[in-house]
Amino acid sequence: MAEPTLDIRGLSKSFGALKATDDVSLDLRPGEIHALIGPNGAGKSTLIKQISGEIAPDAGEIRLDGRRLSGVDAAGRARLGMARSFQVSSVASEFTVLQNVVLAAQGASGATFRFFRPVMRDTALLDPARDCIAQAGLMGREDVPAAALAHGERRKLEIAMALALRPRLFLLDEPMAGMGTEGARALGDLLDGLRHRAPILLVEHDMDAVFRLSDRISVLVYGRIIATGTPGEIRADPEVQRVYLGE
Ligand code: ADP
Ligand code: MG
Repeated sequence: MAEPTLDIRGLSKSFGALKATDDVSLDLRPGEIHALIGPNGAGKSTLIKQISGEIAPDAGEIRLDGRRLSGVDAAGRARLGMARSFQVSSVASEFTVLQNVVLAAQGASGATFRFFRPVMRDTALLDPARDCIAQAGLMGREDVPAAALAHGERRKLEIAMALALRPRLFLLDEPMAGMGTEGARALGDLLDGLRHRAPILLVEHDMDAVFRLSDRISVLVYGRIIATGTPGEIRADPEVQRVYLGE
């Protein structure tokens, strides 16, 4: 089997007496969508933040492409290719779709903002930015100001900006929250294509989307993973039925 892109062993984090994550181990393999589901307060967002480096774990180890990440901060992990989206949005409303994606790519390369005008004529930056926009499903919307985008299109712009960072993996915390059925389905189709660019660790409450898209699902309850398996295995798991899916 291919080496996992992301390998997590024994991650734990307590807030006072509360064990938000408790000895969590899971991995994310090339090409896959691995969903993390569980009730509110189970520790899903805490786990994502431990992986992205926003929260320091009390114990455990995270490896990206085999490399230990202890001591690497959130900015460093982003530079190593951890694309985290949908909670802190860095979209600049007054700029166009194309400008936002170029800015994201340029930020990743460490260049500074004052070179913005020449950058917008630099085909070496513009062509890859247009590719990212097309892959995110925003073709034809390059020159629209971000402020004029519909909610679902803004999510797509965030994906285009994440793609501009040449991600090794995506960490997505409830990307479908606040979207209607149509929008959620369209975003699901988009994620289905993106997995081939970089695998996706997906926290999502939309169970139709989770069971349709995922290669594997892990179920987190009170900070502990109670099951990991294919959608079929998870659906048939009596413990998962009892504590989460059964209602
Ligand atoms: P989920 O995303 O699965 O809904 P969270 O990871 O947000 O769950 O929260 C897990 C538990 O940890 C919850 O009981 C929540 O109240 C608690 N928690 C999360 N962040 C903090 C924090 N910064 N300080 C104290 N408790 C927190
Ligand atoms: Mg959460």
